[in-house]
Amino acid sequence: MTMIENQICTVRQRMAAACQAAGRAPDSVRLLAVSKTFDAQAVLAAHAAGQRAFGENYIREAVEKITQLRGLPLQWHCIGPIQSNKTRLVAEHFDWVQTVDRLKIAERLSEQRPPHLAPLQVCIQVNVDGGVSKSGVAPPQALALAQAVMALPGLRLRGLMCIPEPAADFASACAVFKKAKDLFDALNTAGLALDTLSMGMSADLEAAIASGSTLVRVGSAIFGQRDGHHA
Ligand SMILES: *Cc1c(COP(=O)(O)O)cnc(C)c1O
Repeated sequence: MTMIENQICTVRQRMAAACQAAGRAPDSVRLLAVSKTFDAQAVLAAHAAGQRAFGENYIREAVEKITQLRGLPLQWHCIGPIQSNKTRLVAEHFDWVQTVDRLKIAERLSEQRPPHLAPLQVCIQVNVDGGVSKSGVAPPQALALAQAVMALPGLRLRGLMCIPEPAADFASACAVFKKAKDLFDALNTAGLALDTLSMGMSADLEAAIASGSTLVRVGSAIFGQRDGHHA
């Protein structure tokens, strides 16, 4: 087994243990392997371990990898900030976008999604811990943005994602993740039929799963530490 295959097994075991501790079904949480800064060889090694869904933050780097690996049945998620001038690349190459937090970006993605592709699967990024400089829509604005996104023909709304600041301990991590879960439940009560709550990373996936995550985004625990300037 390669190191990457080994680490994927370890992450899957952590996920299974967290599901069991929370009384959740083991298949209720999916793993997104965050391959940013790592090359196509690393993605291939993860693919060999059965991994199919990959997350990328830097659009040009991602498009290069996606193009190189075109023959494989992989699912690519954009999890980085999106500038207006990058929406076309995202719409043409990715399967999912998890970082929609403005209607203008959503409208461009919808318009630019090539008609021969399935709609782009979308999560709205929510700023659950309230940092003023952070990406993500404020929770009170999430319903209106979600309803506007649902009306766009090139997109299919799937859920919410959040990236809270690292927490000091398990209980405080859960307290923040619970805000995202409460919002997710409220939007579903309002009739939205969301199935994806993307939260939890290498350091806090257990707390996220305890709090209702359905998709954890794991980078360093699978691929190793990233270069400082990209960390
Ligand atoms: C880099 C990144 C991750 C993965 O972080 P790790 O701590 O390496 O697991 C997850 N989500 C987002 C949005 C990221 O940018």
